[in-house]
Order: sequence, then C-alpha cells, then structure tokens
Amino acid sequence: AADPRLQGISDAIRVVPHFPKPGIMFNDITPLLLRPGVFKDAVDMFVERYRGMGIAAVAGIEARGFIFGPAIALAIGAKFIPLRKPKKLPGDVFSESYALEYGTDCLEMHVGAIEPGERAVVVDDLVATGGTLSAAIKLLERAGADVVECACVIGLPKFKVPLFFFFFFCRGQPIYS
Ligand code: AMP
Repeated sequence: AADPRLQGISDAIRVVPHFPKPGIMFNDITPLLLRPGVFKDAVDMFVERYRGMGIAAVAGIEARGFIFGPAIALAIGAKFIPLRKPKKLPGDVFSESYALEYGTDCLEMHVGAIEPGERAVVVDDLVATGGTLSAAIKLLERAGADVVECACVIGLPKFKVPLFFFFFFCRGQPIYS
C-alpha cells in the first residue's frame, strides 16, 4: 500500500498552466510550504529513507533544492552543500554546464565542499528531463564524491538522460529506482 502521507503531499502541489511561459505546466510547491504538517511529511519521508545510510552530504540545487535539502541534512546529521547558479559562490568552484530546451545553464560547487569517497544525496523539488540532476551528479563526482541517489518531491516523466538513482513522488504515486 502507498504511504498515506503521499496523498497530502500531492494535494498540496499546485499545477499552474503556462507559467513562466506558454506551454509549461509549472508545479508550484509553495502551497505545501504553507502547511507545516505536509511540509514535515515530505521532509520526514526523505529522512526516513536516508538516515543510517552513512550519507555525509546533502547537495541542494538552487533555488528550490535549498528549501528541502537543509532540513533533510540536519535531520540525518549530514552537511549541506549548495549547488549554485554561476558567479554566486565566492571561492574556487567546479562548474558544469548543461543543455536546456533552449540554450544552456550551469551549476557551480565550491572546491573542498566534499572529500573523495564521501557519500552524497542530491535534492531538488522536481525532475523533468533530468538534465539539472545529471549536472549535479557530475559536479559531485568530479570532486570524488560517491553519489548514492537523487531525491525530488515531484517527478515528471520526461527523462532524456540516464539517472542511475532516483526517488520521487509523481502526483501521489511513489516511484523508486
Ligand atoms: P530538468 O533539468 O529538465 O529535470 O528540470 C528540473 C529543474 O527545472 C528543477 O530545478 C525544477 O525546479 C525546474 N523545473 C523544470 N520543469 C518544471 C516545472 N514544470 N515546474 C516547476 N519547476 C520545473
């Protein structure tokens, strides 16, 4: 049987057609954040999955990975690593560019944020094509990290790239790697 918390999580995600541009069905997680019990359920489900797995780092993707990632990191006793858009981090960085539907984007991580061999989980609100998560995995692997899994609240079935590990909820349906 599905976890009873998933229905509440799914119901708290608002789908906004044609935002931020025509043709995009935007999945808005802000209603979920306004319901502390549901927000806690979402964080708890990730925490239950990753606690006790020897995870040293939770890497969150700017910006909505910064909402869920730190709560998960604190609860499992891991460090939080922000993966940021270009030119936001002041120190030496690893950079990874990735293709968008039109154009490219880039994520950066501080050199020294993670040690070779440390186990990491990547967190974002949503996976669509998987391009963003793939760039995050490459950044962490360039630093020698062992990326155990990626975790998102919402999954949209549009993968263009292979993702070796993932765990997400898709409109209330739990989908495991
Ligand atoms: P992708 O790289 O294609 O997997 O896109 C995932 C990233 O883009 C995540 O950081 C999401 O926050 C954002 N994103 C993509 N599509 C949507 C959508 N339909 N609604 C909300 N956020 C989206």
